[in-house]
Amino acid sequence: SFDVLVVGGGPAGASAAIYAARKGIRTGLVAERFGGQVLDTMAIENLISVPYTEGPKLAAHLEEHVNAYDVDLLKGHTASALKVASDGALHEVEFDNGATLSAKTVVLATGARWRTMGVPGEDEYRNKGVTFCPHCDGPLFKGKRVAVIGGGNSGVEAAIDLAGVVGHVTLIEFLDEMRADEVLQRKLRSLDNVDVVLSARTTEVIGDGAQVTGLDYEDRTTGETEHLDLEGVFVQIGLLPNTEWLKGAVELTDRGEIVIDEDGKTNVPGVVAAGDAASSPAKQIVVALGGGATAALTAFDHLIRTSAP
Ligand code: FAD
Repeated sequence: SFDVLVVGGGPAGASAAIYAARKGIRTGLVAERFGGQVLDTMAIENLISVPYTEGPKLAAHLEEHVNAYDVDLLKGHTASALKVASDGALHEVEFDNGATLSAKTVVLATGARWRTMGVPGEDEYRNKGVTFCPHCDGPLFKGKRVAVIGGGNSGVEAAIDLAGVVGHVTLIEFLDEMRADEVLQRKLRSLDNVDVVLSARTTEVIGDGAQVTGLDYEDRTTGETEHLDLEGVFVQIGLLPNTEWLKGAVELTDRGEIVIDEDGKTNVPGVVAAGDAASSPAKQIVVALGGGATAALTAFDHLIRTSAP
């Protein structure tokens, strides 16, 4: 059994494993796919102190750093259930291959995935104009025309954010009204380089083979297909935390995020969480790295207070 078992091998999990192993305690890290979302990222320009890197390169560096310590690294395993223990017994993590690992403390760092539109061109032009992260990719579209898909809080926040960076933003909402908070909608409507299109179903992302050049949508009131010329499409229709396997074991928000406090504690003693799977609002690499460190230090603190010497 482990002192600390980290589930998830993105920035949060890697950071947690390094911080735990540096305390000289038995540390394991299990990941379906080491690197997580970072593997799907092209250019990364906001990992502070690293002006430019690329996802696969950063993932390789994370793995090299984890391997520099005494961490049992188990790749290609998917956790399917967490059995939490009370009164000092070991927590158990079950995997879909039938294996079980037990640990005194568990760091939950299974990250998240972006909900996609599922329309032609979206996959083909991913990172070639189609993107999911305004904080990451906004500056790549400086002065250009972009669309934001989705009129919930994240879509409207993205549109407001992008309006200050890009040339023009068209926000496209499927329903006949935006669901974002009124204060955000008011701010959005005050911006003169933003258009809002309601009752619009995106049907295709168009490109020239190398880059996005436009977008087709169906006007749901007329049934007509409309076309927009633009260079970027920011899809903001939801970030889904990879926490389905934790239902009933730890407290989740109504969006499925693991509820944590500022120390990374969940509602279960000895179970901590970090990164995009958790309830902290900023979903970024540098935040996940910090959250992983915080969670591991909280787990260590739990161990020294509860374990026999
Ligand atoms: P993740 O990176 O999602 O990692 C989750 C880990 O858990 C993976 O190893 C996964 O395989 C594993 N896992 C999931 N479920 C299970 C399970 N049941 N059992 C076992 N393992 C499991 N952020 C930036 O700061 N800058 C950027 O430029 C940037 N660009 C991005 C571009 C794209 C295309 C995307 C998708 C995201 C981008 N982000 C960027 C966001 C950033 O990647 C995330 O905030 C960060 O990776 C979150 O780290 P994490 O460790 O919490 O989760």
